Amino acid sequence: MFKKILVANRGEIALRIQRACRELGVKAVMVYSEADREAKYVKLAEEAVCIGPAPSAQSYLNMPAIISAAEVTDAEAIHPGYGFLSENADFAERVEKSGFQFIGPTPESIRIMGDKVSAKQAMIRAGVPCVPGSEGELPDDPVLIKRMAKSVGYPVIIKAAGGGGGRGMRVVHTEAALVNAVAMTKAEAGAAFGNPAVYMEKFLQNPRHIEIQILADKHKNAVYLGERDCSMQRRHQKVLEESPAPGISRKLIERIGERCVAACKKIGYRGAGTFEFLYEDGEFYFIEMNTRVQVEHPVTEMVTGIDIVKTQIMVAAGEKLPFTQRQIEMRGHAIECRVNAEDPYKFTPSPGRVTMWHAPGGPGVRVDSHVYTNYFVPPNYDSMVGKIIVHGDTREQAMARMRTALAETVVEGINTNIPLHRELMVDAKFMDGGTNIHYLEHWLEQHKR
Ligand code: ADP
Repeated sequence: MFKKILVANRGEIALRIQRACRELGVKAVMVYSEADREAKYVKLAEEAVCIGPAPSAQSYLNMPAIISAAEVTDAEAIHPGYGFLSENADFAERVEKSGFQFIGPTPESIRIMGDKVSAKQAMIRAGVPCVPGSEGELPDDPVLIKRMAKSVGYPVIIKAAGGGGGRGMRVVHTEAALVNAVAMTKAEAGAAFGNPAVYMEKFLQNPRHIEIQILADKHKNAVYLGERDCSMQRRHQKVLEESPAPGISRKLIERIGERCVAACKKIGYRGAGTFEFLYEDGEFYFIEMNTRVQVEHPVTEMVTGIDIVKTQIMVAAGEKLPFTQRQIEMRGHAIECRVNAEDPYKFTPSPGRVTMWHAPGGPGVRVDSHVYTNYFVPPNYDSMVGKIIVHGDTREQAMARMRTALAETVVEGINTNIPLHRELMVDAKFMDGGTNIHYLEHWLEQHKR
């Protein structure tokens, strides 16, 4: 096992990784920008290094600053968390060339999965079902593009190969709009992601977003840890997640989980990863793979009892997965609400001083947050300030626990989306389970204020 690792991230995930290190008896070096000097995990750290000013480009995305922080503190490995440099193959490569272990997959795996076209091609080869569409980058010839859309069937969605975070996508309903939409998506993709390549998929009308968590070691062992339902989204951003996915048979999950594990073995994947699927009419369609730990990993931890972050560190250190597929059991039901510093209905960010932070507690309640009373939420980063996660024997019990947890939570000084979560937890359709990816947007439209 490593003696010391460097945590190249901020916020709740930095604290989460610090906690995993403590349990493993590994020293954690925390890095921080000038805006994060007051963060809880920095105060709790045995060692912390300032890596630059507030803007991410000069701190959390500053590769030389992060690598030299690892050098001066004698860390052996770097955990990238999520976001920032976590899915940057060049960073992973530089980390390893500098003699550190990158806690994640190989740079090659990150590169393949980071380009959605090559990711899809790899999945098709590995036998993972994908959304029908162009099996590669779209050509320039308008005649060919139109022919392709006709055979896929309208509506289609044009997606950037380098896209992420819900950006770089355009839905096209008619042939008349097609060629122009492709040109616009290409231009935007070139400007936003430095890669103008786009591809086409059938636009599924009412899918759910279901994803499979996997873990793999360096010894060709891989397992899946069940699924998460992340269909509650606004602007393609997840708002709350749960596991298991209501109403989907275990047989179907097992079948797709086994496909994901086979794909991991085929591509030599190591570490934690997530296969994201759209699910419609009993079928799964792969859309992308995330090659890192995800925000919503706690719901899986709650139902399986497996610590995903600790396992990431263990397999990076060369250890074998400490469990087999047969030993993994899903127990009960877990729900996670993401707590964002924002107006609950207008969604404008609400950074600033938190004058009161009172976290909930009780059986089956977990709070992952770096916030405390008098903490200042900097305006420079993502608005997520924490996550409330609950576990219950049944989905009903989990929802009841979440209602209690949300009622107990007090946050003053900034706005949060907790009022929205309180409403969703008593919404009849959500309570029935199985809502699709458009549900929350429609709900917000109907509940405009
Ligand atoms: P990103 O990397 O930007 O998150 P994804 O490919 O994961 O992009 O897609 C994000 C979201 O966009 C999905 O969760 C879904 O809501 C929507 N989406 C993507 N592809 C399709 C499709 N073929 N049909 C319908 N919706 C889609």
